[in-house]
Amino acid sequence: MQSYQEMSKEELYKVKEGLEKEYAKYKGMGLSLNMARGKPAATQLDLVMPMLDVLNSSSELIAEDGTDCRNYGELKGIPEARKLIADMVGSTPDHVFVYGNSSLNVMYDTVSRSFTHGVMGSTPWCKLDKVKFLCPVPGYDRHFGVTEFFGVEMVNVPMTSEGPDMDMVERLVSSDDSIKGIWCVPKYSNPQGITYSDETVRRMAALKPAAEDFRIYWDNAYVVHHLYEDEQDDLLDIISECEKAGNPDMVYEFCSTSKVSFPGSGIAAIVTSKANLDFIEKQFTMQTIGHDKINQLRHVRYFKNIDGINAHMMKQAAIMRPKFEMVERTLQDELGELGIGSWISPKGGYFICFNTLPGCAKSVVAKAKEAGVVLTPAGAPFPYGKDSEDSVIRIAPSFPTMEELETATKIFVLCVKLASVEKLLA
Ligand code: PLP
Repeated sequence: MQSYQEMSKEELYKVKEGLEKEYAKYKGMGLSLNMARGKPAATQLDLVMPMLDVLNSSSELIAEDGTDCRNYGELKGIPEARKLIADMVGSTPDHVFVYGNSSLNVMYDTVSRSFTHGVMGSTPWCKLDKVKFLCPVPGYDRHFGVTEFFGVEMVNVPMTSEGPDMDMVERLVSSDDSIKGIWCVPKYSNPQGITYSDETVRRMAALKPAAEDFRIYWDNAYVVHHLYEDEQDDLLDIISECEKAGNPDMVYEFCSTSKVSFPGSGIAAIVTSKANLDFIEKQFTMQTIGHDKINQLRHVRYFKNIDGINAHMMKQAAIMRPKFEMVERTLQDELGELGIGSWISPKGGYFICFNTLPGCAKSVVAKAKEAGVVLTPAGAPFPYGKDSEDSVIRIAPSFPTMEELETATKIFVLCVKLASVEKLLA
C-alpha cells in the first residue's frame, strides 16, 4: 500500500472523497461512544465483588498487632496492609504509610505540605519566588493539574523509550535550585505504557539536585497492572536504589489499589524513607486520627498477599487484553502502511498512546466527537494542556464494551486518515 505522503494531490483528493462518504455514514448513526476514560469496565469490577463479603457483623475486626479496626488508632495503617503495599511496590513495610482511598490525594497533600511547611526544615515553597517541577511528557494530566493549581512552573522533559530524557533531567536538576520535583509514572506510564529501564532508575536515584528539598514524585500507579502473564515489565525498587546512591530521602513513592479493587474505594499509600515519614507524621497527627482500617483489613483478608493480587490482576488482564489487542490490530491493519501515525504497544497499564502527524491531534479529536466518539482532549497529557506538536492522543480501551470499542476504533482510524489527508492537502 502507498503511504499518504507518497500520493499525488489528485490521489489524495480521491482518497479524501471516499473517507468523507464513510465519515458521513458514521455521523448519521447518532453514536455515543467513549474512549477517554481510564476506568475499569464494570466486568472488571464484578471480579472484586466477593471482597464485600469477607467482612460482616460477625467478623473479628482485629488486626494482627491486636488493633481493633473498628476504633481510632494506627495512623500509619495496620501492619498487614503496610506489608501488602510494600510487597506490591517491592519495598518493606517500615517505608509505608497507608492513607485513605486515593493516591492522587496523597500527592496533592504532599505538594500542599511542601508549600505550607517546606520539606524537612526547608523554606516553605509559598515563600519562594519560583518553584518548578520537571514534567516528563506526555504524562498524566492530573499530576500537571496539581502543580498548576499551586502555581508551580512546569518544565517539559521528553520521554524516551526508557523513561524521561535523563541527560536533560540531570542537567536541569543539578543546576537550578528552584526545581523541587519531577513527576514520574515509572511503570506502564500514563499514557505511553513505558517502563523506566534499570539505567533510568539508577540515574534517577543518583541525581545530585541543587535544591535540598528536591524530591522525585514516583507514582507507581500501574505497578501490578500487567496485560500478559508471560511478558511483564520489571521496575527496580527506587527506594533501595536511592539508599544505595546515598539519597535515601530523595523519593516519595505513591500507589493505590484503585485499579486493583474499586477505584475510589481502594487503599492508597506513600512509600518513603523513615526521615520523610517522621516529617509527614507531624502533619498527619494534626490532620486525621486515622484512615479507614476496616477497608484496609477487607483488602488484606480478600487478597491475602501479593500472590493473591497478582492472580487477581491476571483475571483483570483477561478482560483488558483482548481490547488492547483489538485496538492495536485495527491501528496496524488500517494505518500500518500509511505513514500517518505511530503508537506503542504496551505490556500493561491502561492506555495506548497514538501520535498523529504534527498538527493533526486536535482535528482528529474534534472529528471523532462529531461522529459520536469522545476521546481524551488533545493536549491533555501536557502541562497547561499544550502539546506544541499537536500530535499526541491518549486512547483508553478499558471502559467500553468490546462491541462499542470496535466501532469507536474504526471511527478513530477514519478520523486519523481524514485529518491527515486534510493536513497534507493544506
Ligand atoms: N496516578 C496515575 C498515573 C493514574 O493514571 C491515576 C488514575 O488514572 C491515578 C494516579 C489516580 O489514582 P487514585 O485513584 O489512587 O487517586
